[in-house]
Order: sequence, then C-alpha cells, then structure tokens
Amino acid sequence: MKEEMYHSEKLNTIGELAASIAHEVRNPLTVVKGFFQLMEKEETGKKKDYYTISLGELHRAEEIISDYLNFAKPQFKHIEKVEISQLTREMIHFLTPYAIKGNVDLSLDRSVEAFVRTDRNQLKQALINLIKNAIEATPPKGKVTVSIQKNNEKIQVTIRDTGKGMTTEQLNRIGKLFYSTKEKGTGLGMMVSLRIIEEIGGSLTLTSEIGVGTVSVVILPSMQKEQQHI
Ligand code: ADP
Ligand code: MG
Repeated sequence: MKEEMYHSEKLNTIGELAASIAHEVRNPLTVVKGFFQLMEKEETGKKKDYYTISLGELHRAEEIISDYLNFAKPQFKHIEKVEISQLTREMIHFLTPYAIKGNVDLSLDRSVEAFVRTDRNQLKQALINLIKNAIEATPPKGKVTVSIQKNNEKIQVTIRDTGKGMTTEQLNRIGKLFYSTKEKGTGLGMMVSLRIIEEIGGSLTLTSEIGVGTVSVVILPSMQKEQQHI
C-alpha cells in the first residue's frame, strides 16, 4: 500500500500561453455551438444525428477548456460560508445517475455539520472530480463511499472506492499535466482539484492498492464557532 501527498505544479510560461489560447478559443466555440443547436432543431434523420454528435464533442471541448482555465486561474469570486455535509449530499445526488450507469453504488457513509469559508462552486468542482474518478475506476457492483469527519480545526472528506487501484508509479504521476490512463481522459481533473484544495488551504492525500481500491483524503480548514455568524 502506498500513500502520496500532493502539491500542485506552478504554471510555466507555456502553460500561461496555453491558458490564454484556451480563453480565446472559447468564444468562437460558443458561436459555433449556438448555430449547431439551431441546425440540430431544424434537421431530421441522419443529419440530425450528425449535429447531435458534433454538439456532444463541442460540449466536451468546452469542458476541457473550462477545466484548463480553472487550473490556470481558479476564480474564487463569491466567498461564503459553505456547509460541507449539505454540499456533499447535493454532489451525490448530482452524480448518482453517473454511478448507476456504471452499476456502482455511491453513498454518503457518515457526515457531520461543518463549515468552510470558500467559493461554493470551486469546492464542489474539486470534490466532484475526485468522486467521478472514484466511480470511473470502480467495476460494476463496486462501491464508492464518501464520509465527513471533523476534529478541532480540520474537516476530513474521505472518498473510498473498491476500484482498480494504482501502482506507486501511477500515484507518482497523479496531478501531472495531462496524465490520464483513460481513452477519453483529459488528465486535468486531479490538477484542478489539487489547485482548488490548496487555494482553500487544504491538502490532498491518496492511498491506493492495486485490485483493492483507492482512498482520497481531503483535509480542509474548518470555520470556527466564533466565525460562524459572519
Ligand atoms: P482523467 O480522469 O481525465 O483521466 P484525472 O486528472 O481526473 O484525469 O485523473 C488522472 C488519472 O489518475 C486517471 O486517468 C487515473 O488513471 C488516475 N486516477 C485518479 N483517481 C483514481 C482512482 N480513484 N482510482 C484509480 N485511478 C485513479
Ligand atoms: Mg477525472
């Protein structure tokens, strides 16, 4: 069993350049998508299918660009008091159809009320990427469980899967730019999560064993009682 704690890589000039290209590409993409949506509505039969497939791919391209931009420059625009067990329930609700598709049992194991001061959407994105990876690694009839614990000033979010696990070599490569073992993977998910977690002042540790599964532990700073009325 191997445990690894992660730090996000700093973007270099090439990374920053790529981020600005990504930003510029997003606008024409949005225009093309709009026209394709119109054409999809007007067509029937085979041609309609072509538009539907193209729209799916455009959507994927948009997602990759958003992930990349979010990594290059995470936007913490709206800082608020976020209750983590409620947020986790929402995420599980949102990801349940995805888990059902893979015949994976996704559940909240145990949870406790706890507050983090951050941008709600960013925290959600960070955890969704981890839970999605857990689901994707897990074979049919497997389990993904999320639990939340609190001790003193720290909140611990644990995501366990009964998936394929990772070798030491794979664990070492996690969070590196574009590292993916999936056919349609981008290798951006872990990088984005890591970047957001660090921005919040937390940490990410993964423990994994081949054929047994992976445990992702996210530690977040908890808002103290006296701050909670803010
Ligand atoms: P992607 O999901 O697009 O491949 P990520 O950055 O989200 O990119 O993940 C990178 C790689 O890390 C994955 O391709 C996979 O090999 C590995 N990985 C991440 N989480 C898990 C997990 N829970 N179990 C096994 N492998 C994982
Ligand atoms: Mg992923």
